[in-house]
Amino acid sequence: MKIQLCAPTLTRVPYTACPLCSGTAWIELRRDDCTSHPLYQPDLPATIGWLGCETCGHVFTEGWFDDEASARLMERANPLQLASAAAEEHRITAARLVQRVSVVRGALGGRWLDVGFGNGALLTTAEEFGYEAVGLDLRGEGAAELQALGYDARLGSLADLDASERFDVISFADVLEHTPFPAETLTAAAAHLAPGGLLFVSMPNVDSYPWKVLDRKGANPYWTEIEHYHNFSREHLYWLLRRTGFEPCDYAVSERYRAGMEVIAVRLGDES
Ligand SMILES: [Zn+2]
Repeated sequence: MKIQLCAPTLTRVPYTACPLCSGTAWIELRRDDCTSHPLYQPDLPATIGWLGCETCGHVFTEGWFDDEASARLMERANPLQLASAAAEEHRITAARLVQRVSVVRGALGGRWLDVGFGNGALLTTAEEFGYEAVGLDLRGEGAAELQALGYDARLGSLADLDASERFDVISFADVLEHTPFPAETLTAAAAHLAPGGLLFVSMPNVDSYPWKVLDRKGANPYWTEIEHYHNFSREHLYWLLRRTGFEPCDYAVSERYRAGMEVIAVRLGDES
């Protein structure tokens, strides 16, 4: 582990309770050096402490980055996230995902919101399949690039949506583990999803075989992922979904990421 010569000026805001169950007892499971991460900068903490909740078992980081520290991370947007680099490359995997969601829905078309659209592959492919697709992302370069091509790619988060906007599908493709408080994020998403609408969530699964093998080899890249605050199991994700108004109805494994899981859940309730 490298020694950090200067104290970081941008620190994590410590969690005061487990972000899943609100429990207040945890143990530090491990501490990992994140200085080799492409988004790392010297005024950010050099290590990530991972905590295990003693109440529910959820695995999360010792804290999250506020707006200033998050902006610092954004300064080095991963070039692979930009549309010109990857939207076409990932079109086929995005198409399989859109097809699967559409089969579960029993319908093609309607409004699809992709939160954290990244390289734009899912947003642009959903549009191609006939959805009225809207994207949200915190990275400006990607939004500008897709807007220039005529897509409704907006710079911002769920909080920036008009309260009256409703969607038939909302996707969080490898996004929820980046959010400090995923229960709040899912609750906000539920408010924009019509009853019976579908939620798509993908993220790494700590209970998957690849995860366990990577851990055994001491080569699991997710422990040094500076942008992640959570490492979910399928069980923990289902529990969170059920608590926030969803019922999981489809499980698949990721074609893009090792150890990745892809879950479709239906929005329960009868309010409009
Ligand atoms: Zn907990």
